[in-house]
Amino acid sequence: MNDSVKKMLVDAFGKRVVFDASAKDFTTFKTGGLLSAVVFPSKKEEIEFLFELEKKGTDVKFIGCGSNLLISDCGFDGVIAVTEKISGISLSENFISGYCGAKISFLMGFCIKHSLGGLEFLSGIPGTLGGALVNNAGIKETSISDIVYIIQYMDKSGHWTVANKPEISWDYRYSQLKGKAFFVLSCFLRAEKKSKEEVKKKISAILKQRKEKQPLEYPSAGSVFKNPPGFFAGKLIEEAGLKGFRIGGAMVSEKHANFIINTGNASSSDVWNLIRYIQKKVNSRYNILLKPEIELIGRFT
Ligand SMILES: Cc1cc2nc3c(=O)[nH]c(=O)nc-3n(C[C@H](O)[C@H](O)[C@H](O)COP(=O)(O)OP(=O)(O)OC[C@H]3O[C@@H](n4cnc5c(N)ncnc54)[C@H](O)[C@@H]3O)c2cc1C
Repeated sequence: MNDSVKKMLVDAFGKRVVFDASAKDFTTFKTGGLLSAVVFPSKKEEIEFLFELEKKGTDVKFIGCGSNLLISDCGFDGVIAVTEKISGISLSENFISGYCGAKISFLMGFCIKHSLGGLEFLSGIPGTLGGALVNNAGIKETSISDIVYIIQYMDKSGHWTVANKPEISWDYRYSQLKGKAFFVLSCFLRAEKKSKEEVKKKISAILKQRKEKQPLEYPSAGSVFKNPPGFFAGKLIEEAGLKGFRIGGAMVSEKHANFIINTGNASSSDVWNLIRYIQKKVNSRYNILLKPEIELIGRFT
């Protein structure tokens, strides 16, 4: 990144810009190289500034908690914009209005406090509302698109747009908002009045189940592969005998075969090599090519 871009970032963000930060501090995998610049936008004008910067040739990537990302060991020579400072949540009748940087865990606390049901399925997802919308996050039967009512975003032409849910295409772990062309600012989600105890009980049960089934004691990015139609990726990996298989510090979890865990000192290359190894093994056994659910950022060879 050249000095004039650095100066523009300092002028625009002041103390909310960090240069040469480690990707380990911005991803739940805790791997990856240096990020040329990390900024923490807090208002619309700063998002507009970042889109202008991108138009002039600087790569910009918005991220939430980095819980679905694998950033290259070579790092990212652009601007990583972390949304954590754009994060309020409020209630209007049975609609929850939330900003992109709000954490799902905070949203769950909000639902308990206001006795709101219908969103419990999101509990335990360690990301933000923005990341959940972009990825159409969820569990087997339900995704966030099932409860979205309205989304406000900026598109690459620099226009702020308010769209109703049907105006956006959604699929399994995919939304049209994925990719660098969009910044998701906020949304309205439908909720339903329930008893506080009922909501609390449901969320606790889901969190308990996740703790039992997922290796939450290790850094990871959750499920690495999408489930191919009619199959469970984890089951295919387990049946291919890969539980516990490791490359460097990256290992296929013994607890949940679709999780790759960082056992302590994994590099992103270890994870990437393990991903490719799993793909090769599963493909040769079942003739199914597993597609990554996690997103790669930067250079991988
Ligand atoms: C232990 C564990 C369990 C998990 N369980 C689940 C699960 O059950 N279901 C599930 O779906 N996922 C799960 N995940 C994956 C992950 O948490 C989700 O995909 C989550 O929604 C990502 O949110 P994030 O804020 O971390 O997004 P990030 O990983 O930071 O980013 C994901 C994508 O969203 C984009 N993005 C983020 N915010 C914005 C914004 N405001 N505007 C534009 N683009 C944006 C990024 O550019 C990137 O493309 C799990 C992960 C872990 C580590």
